[in-house]
Amino acid sequence: MDFSWTAEQEALRAEAKAVAAAAVARYGWVADSWINGYCPPFARELAQRGWIGISWPTEFGGAGRPAIDRMIIAEELIGAGAPVGSYWVAERQMGPSIYTYGTAEQQLRYLPGILAGEATWCIGMSEPGAGSDLAALRTRAVRDGDGFVVNGQKIWTSFGAVADFVYLICRTNADGPPHAGISELIVPMNSPGIEVRPIKDMAGGAHFCEVFFTDVRVPASNLVGVEGAAFKQTMRQLEHERGGIDRLVSNHALYRRALDRADLGDALVRQEVAEIETRYRLGRLLVYREACGQAPKGFSAATKLFCTEHERRVADFVARTFGSQTLLAGDVARGMCYANSYSIMGGTSNILRNIVAERILGLPREPAAR
Ligand SMILES: Cc1cc2nc3c(=O)[nH]c(=O)nc-3n(C[C@H](O)[C@H](O)[C@H](O)COP(=O)(O)OP(=O)(O)OC[C@H]3O[C@@H](n4cnc5c(N)ncnc54)[C@H](O)[C@@H]3O)c2cc1C
Repeated sequence: MDFSWTAEQEALRAEAKAVAAAAVARYGWVADSWINGYCPPFARELAQRGWIGISWPTEFGGAGRPAIDRMIIAEELIGAGAPVGSYWVAERQMGPSIYTYGTAEQQLRYLPGILAGEATWCIGMSEPGAGSDLAALRTRAVRDGDGFVVNGQKIWTSFGAVADFVYLICRTNADGPPHAGISELIVPMNSPGIEVRPIKDMAGGAHFCEVFFTDVRVPASNLVGVEGAAFKQTMRQLEHERGGIDRLVSNHALYRRALDRADLGDALVRQEVAEIETRYRLGRLLVYREACGQAPKGFSAATKLFCTEHERRVADFVARTFGSQTLLAGDVARGMCYANSYSIMGGTSNILRNIVAERILGLPREPAAR
């Protein structure tokens, strides 16, 4: 156990800080920039640096560097609000899923576009009536000849309007318990039968969408993993998503602006800043442990819970610091309106507390809904 950084890691952090500052100067900053900062030119620039897929195994085109290197880069880019959105979901989740569960053909076909910063992916998981209770999802993919025919609806699909592919979680078998019969399909977003309707959020963004599937034909070769047995795969992807640094520093850029403005001579403000800074450091330790693969199975629920509740506290501090100006349109107003979403997306805080209680602490299971 060694909590210090190597000289190489310090140098990487300094480089990432400089890249982030240059990107913010060129493209501007945005809160939660891994969702709100869609910017393909910046993705291509990072790809040329070899920073997309930096920790993927070399046999799949990655640089094979330690996961902690990826985390250092992400912490600096997202912490500054640099626009990493166009590649983020694909690099974080879809690439690793495809190289872990996909076929050699899928790996050859889809990974290079992600690594080049060219392909944007979205995740089609949540549905009306199937958010926290994902196993209740009803979008169906029915076998038909050498493919599937998909019908159903997704909602809150971030990047739905700009993505090249949707990584679709759907039901291929309606018999048996809800967790069984779920599969993962890669679906090109330009497939006939897909209709996307962006939803404007109250912060003025429109990154998430409703996505409707009407008789969409998908080749059987786009199935990732074992048909009907994908629920565990999906849960592993969620673990990966929940344990990341993107869950801690999404509104750090906003915090920096509040800090510049705060009356640090005020005893109560100093107390609050000390508290926030302490939580940033604790959150980082949790995330580093996840990145190093040393957290117990399922613990990413606790990591995300701690980190996103912290992000909400940061938002409260920002609101108090800017006072009535928070209400004026602009970066601060948008960042504040957006803040509630941190503890909803990727699993709400209530759901994460349930997971911590049951899976980490071994407390009695939540009673079944009546
Ligand atoms: C910014 C943002 C981006 C998103 N991007 C995507 C995306 O790209 N792809 C995608 O598929 N989805 C996405 N989502 C959807 C997100 O995953 C869901 O909103 C989330 O899982 C909650 O589901 P729900 O909205 O249906 O709420 P519900 O599940 O209906 O929950 C409503 C409330 O009930 C509580 N609740 C529900 N069940 C329980 C329980 N058993 N015990 C205690 N409390 C409970 C919840 O905590 C919540 O407060 C995104 C959401 C946001 C906010």
